[in-house]
Amino acid sequence: MKITDVKCAVIGEHPVVRITTDEGVDGYGQVERYKPYLKWHVLHLAPALVGEDPTNVERVMLKIRNRGGFKPWGSAVSAVEMALWDLAGKAAGLPVYKLLGGKVRDRVRVYNGAVRFPMEGYEPEDYAANMARMKASPEGFTIIKQGVAFHSAMPREVPGFFYGDPAPSNFHGHLVRGLLTEKGLNHVVACVAAMKEVLGDEVGLALDCGPGWTVPDAIRLAKAVEGMHLLWLEDLITGDYVPWVSAGVYREVTRASTTPIHTGEQIYLRHNFKELIEGQAVRIVGPDPCDVGGIAELKWVAEYADLHGVLIAPHGTGNGLLGLAALVQVCATLPANFVAFEYPVANPEWWSGIVTGLPDPIVVDGFVEVWGRPGMGVEFDIPAARAYLAEEDRGFFD
Ligand SMILES: [Mg+2]
Repeated sequence: MKITDVKCAVIGEHPVVRITTDEGVDGYGQVERYKPYLKWHVLHLAPALVGEDPTNVERVMLKIRNRGGFKPWGSAVSAVEMALWDLAGKAAGLPVYKLLGGKVRDRVRVYNGAVRFPMEGYEPEDYAANMARMKASPEGFTIIKQGVAFHSAMPREVPGFFYGDPAPSNFHGHLVRGLLTEKGLNHVVACVAAMKEVLGDEVGLALDCGPGWTVPDAIRLAKAVEGMHLLWLEDLITGDYVPWVSAGVYREVTRASTTPIHTGEQIYLRHNFKELIEGQAVRIVGPDPCDVGGIAELKWVAEYADLHGVLIAPHGTGNGLLGLAALVQVCATLPANFVAFEYPVANPEWWSGIVTGLPDPIVVDGFVEVWGRPGMGVEFDIPAARAYLAEEDRGFFD
């Protein structure tokens, strides 16, 4: 089997990769919806891929893996990797999880990072009210993540929150950092306490916090919430769109309290997790299969983390429905250090009408059942999907 073409169409805001072959089998991958601008990055990989046997996934990846980087630049390579696994699975007549070593669980736990309701404000009662709506959401999530501090509007909306300057705009990834005021830190802790009041010990709470915290504030927060049994504090120091890791700084924070510290969504490749994992600098890593270099890359990170007593809770909020399928396939195969992955939703909602093969409802009691169709096990309803193609992408499904 040989690759004949690599196509990319921006559907909604997601770049979608389609790899075609001389045997009529094709494979799909999807880039996060925040990155419609990456179409060119996918297409520039095409000349390296045409003529290769897509079922030799690793051999193909060796040609293109050095064309990626930290978020957002790992996405194109990651989406191609997923499309290759989809193809390899379809060619073998097996679900992708079988090619990764087989599933160790029949249903995969997800956490809520994408089912969202508008915030009415940024006071503790607003966080409590918002959390109550998420807790009541029909997916029955057993873990809910909420953004606070630098991963929220607090620096702009809470007067006197910190000693630095709030972002002049909402440009995604804009790095705002600085020392918190006593009032600012107290505000964060009060909001966390209000959310815990709603969740009790029935639903776990995780916080996306930054990046942007200073070391003393990060330690103050981690200690202040010690009695609240938070599942993790995410991206306090670096993370999101920060193109470096700061493992040594994370280790300081991790060792200062019993609250689990989490990072890694922006990191590209296993190599860049090495210091975090070997140094036990965090308790939980959170690679995103759409940024880390793909699903086999994520599995490698999970296995290596497990050897070092580090947990894994993969990121995935913007990965779309094809990204969801990829997360289910790989997370079904991970060792017991797997906690849950971040559940992506159809966005816009019409995506639900153009992808077939997903369970309905997708999430039951906070889990997704693992399906067993070949490849990633999801397909486009092509006549329905065609309606959403831009003029320049008309030939995407041909
Ligand atoms: Mg995050």
